[in-house]
Amino acid sequence: MENIDWGSLGFGYYKTDYNVRCYYRNGKWGELEVSSSEEITMHMAATVLHYGQAAFEGMKAFRGVDGKVRMFRPYENARRMISSAQGVMMAEPPEELFVEACKKVVKLNERFIPPYGSGASLYLRPILVGTGAQVGVHPAKEYLFMVFACPVGPYFKAGFKPVKFQIAKDYDRAAPFGTGKYKVGGNYAASLVSGERAVKEGYSNCIYLNAATHEFIDEAGAANFFGIKDNTYVTPKSTSILPSITNMSLCQIAEDLGLKVERRPIPVEELSTFEEVAACGTAAVVSPINEIVDRESGKTYKWGAEPGPVSTKLYHTLKGIQDGTIEDKHGWNVFVE
Ligand SMILES: *Cc1c(COP(=O)(O)O)cnc(C)c1O
Repeated sequence: MENIDWGSLGFGYYKTDYNVRCYYRNGKWGELEVSSSEEITMHMAATVLHYGQAAFEGMKAFRGVDGKVRMFRPYENARRMISSAQGVMMAEPPEELFVEACKKVVKLNERFIPPYGSGASLYLRPILVGTGAQVGVHPAKEYLFMVFACPVGPYFKAGFKPVKFQIAKDYDRAAPFGTGKYKVGGNYAASLVSGERAVKEGYSNCIYLNAATHEFIDEAGAANFFGIKDNTYVTPKSTSILPSITNMSLCQIAEDLGLKVERRPIPVEELSTFEEVAACGTAAVVSPINEIVDRESGKTYKWGAEPGPVSTKLYHTLKGIQDGTIEDKHGWNVFVE
C-alpha cells in the first residue's frame, strides 16, 4: 500500500497510476484502454470546448472492515450518466462498460485505496465529453468516456461537523426545465460565481432556490438537501435538482429506521420548523447544517452546534453499509475482486 498520510488527505486531485478510456467512433464504442497519462488530446473544435457537451459522475470505493473493496451503487451512477448523456445529446456508455471501467480503475490503482478506518476513500471520477469537431451548434459524432481515481479525505475539512449555508437569490443554478437534473458541466460553471462568493463570505456554499419563484429549496451547493421533523425525512421535489444517489439511499435507510419519507417542495420559511437539516452527496455523505442565512434579508435559521441524532444515525448507517460493518440488505455494494 502507498505510504500516504491518509488522515490528512483533502478532497482534491491526487495523481494515481492509471486511468481507463474508451472512445466512441463510427457509431460504436471501442475497447477499454488503460493509460498512465494525465493528459488527453483532442480536436480544437471538439464540442466539449465550445458547446459544453460534458457530463461527469462521482462515486467512491472503500476498503471494508473485512479487507474487501466495495464500490457503492455504481449501476445507479451508470444510469445517471446515461441520463446526462441523453440530456445533452451525447453517445451513452452502456451500464456494463461504465461499471467495468470503474472496477478496472479501482483494481489498477489498488495501492491508493485507503485502509479501513482512515476516513478516506478512493474517489472515482467518470467523465464523458464530445470530442468530435463541430463549428455549428450540433452534437459531436465522437466521444471520450474515461474514469480516473484519486484517494480523498472528507469533503468538508471540519469532518462530521455542522456547516453554514447562504441563500442567494441573485443567482440561479438551473432553469426549471433546463439541465439541472443532469450532471453536466455547464451547471457547475453556472454555480461558481455564487458558490465562491458564499465561501468568501464564510459559508460552505449556497442554498439554491427554485429559479422560477425563489420560494422553494432546490439544492445545497453540489449536494441535495434534507430536513427532519416529526420523525419524517423531507427532501425537495423539483425538476431542476440532480437526483442524488446518496439521498436516494438515505430515503431508504430512513424508511428502514422507521421514519416517514416525503419528497415535496420545501418552502424556505419551513426551515424554521425542522429539527435538523443537512446536505448530502457522495463527496460529503451527510453534512449537518447549523445555520442558513438569507443573504438579501439577513433572516437567519439556526440549529444546534452538534449534529442532530437522526442525521448522525443516518450518516453512521450509510457509512457502515459502505464499510461492511452494517448488513447491506439492499445489495448496494459491488465488490471489486
Ligand atoms: C453529484 C451531485 C449531487 C450528489 O449526488 P450523489 O449521487 O449523492 O453523489 C447532488 N447535487 C448535485 C448538483 C450534484 O452534482
